[in-house]
Amino acid sequence: MPKPRERGWPAAPEALPAVAVDNHTHLDAIAPYAQGVRDRLRVAEARRRGHEVPAGADDMDLVEVPIRVPSVADVVADAAAVGVTRMVQVGCDLDAVRWTDDLLNETAGTAVGGALLGAVAIHPNEAPLHGLGPDAAEDRLEIGPDGLLPTLEPRHATSLDDAIAQVAAVVRANPRIRAIGETGMDLFRTGPRGVEIQRASFRAHVALAKELDLALQIHDRDAHQEVIDVLLADGAPERTVFHCFSGDAEMARIAREQGWYLSFAGPVSFAANDDLRAALRVMPLDHVMVETDAPFLTPHPYRGRPNAPYLLPHTVRTVAKVSGMPLDEVCRVTSSTAQRVYGDW
Ligand SMILES: [Zn+2]
Repeated sequence: MPKPRERGWPAAPEALPAVAVDNHTHLDAIAPYAQGVRDRLRVAEARRRGHEVPAGADDMDLVEVPIRVPSVADVVADAAAVGVTRMVQVGCDLDAVRWTDDLLNETAGTAVGGALLGAVAIHPNEAPLHGLGPDAAEDRLEIGPDGLLPTLEPRHATSLDDAIAQVAAVVRANPRIRAIGETGMDLFRTGPRGVEIQRASFRAHVALAKELDLALQIHDRDAHQEVIDVLLADGAPERTVFHCFSGDAEMARIAREQGWYLSFAGPVSFAANDDLRAALRVMPLDHVMVETDAPFLTPHPYRGRPNAPYLLPHTVRTVAKVSGMPLDEVCRVTSSTAQRVYGDW
């Protein structure tokens, strides 16, 4: 069994030669994720040392494992130390939308606030749960192609229309929120009944981004054609970004033609993803951005360990290598693209 330290936070990478922007991260999820990793490792370590730990125990005081649960200020400082001085915080369920709004308001005018802009939406995997209607109950839930039964949370008692209206109200009142996202479609987690609700939700978010002249951040999982169809039929917002782009060179050509932006996350560094690297080579660098999607999708060679914006340099270096551009040029161009898409920080 690996030592706990080896499953925790990776060491900080070498600092970038110029500043970079993480254009998609979930600060609300980083601390809970780290907490979860720490709890699991405490149990594993206690068992390794021969302690008896009841199944399901998640609060092990028997051993301490050295995994930090960082505050937002810690995350921002760690990122700045390696050149990642700005980021877009994405809140994509009703609780996270409020969390994002509060964070941006509470940090306004501080150094931490200066590093942050926001994006909010009802995620495609959330939309069907809101869309079940006022009598939503566990027995109406649908198991998705991923084989998992979703969990209903108190926030899902709000109807989808009301949830999207709440997103719109938050965006209108907060000038630091500059994107609608992540929205889109996800055929991996959603079964056929949910897909129609998901499509309707996506269309409503597209309309909102256009109405407010904001950027759109798209989540597309196993749904390339469905997402493209909606964008072409309804008309894509001026600044449309595929977050954690997962398509191939052919799809990148469509994006290039349409003037859409592709944001690359940790998977561009995974050995199996030649398609993604081919897509990156198709795109003009001024329509490419970089992101962590933290705490998920930790770049190679740290797959499976927690992620945070300070690990973005690994992805920036991969983009430089694949596109054959100097590293400082990639930092400069992707940063100015982020500024063009989301406005000034
Ligand atoms: Zn995300």
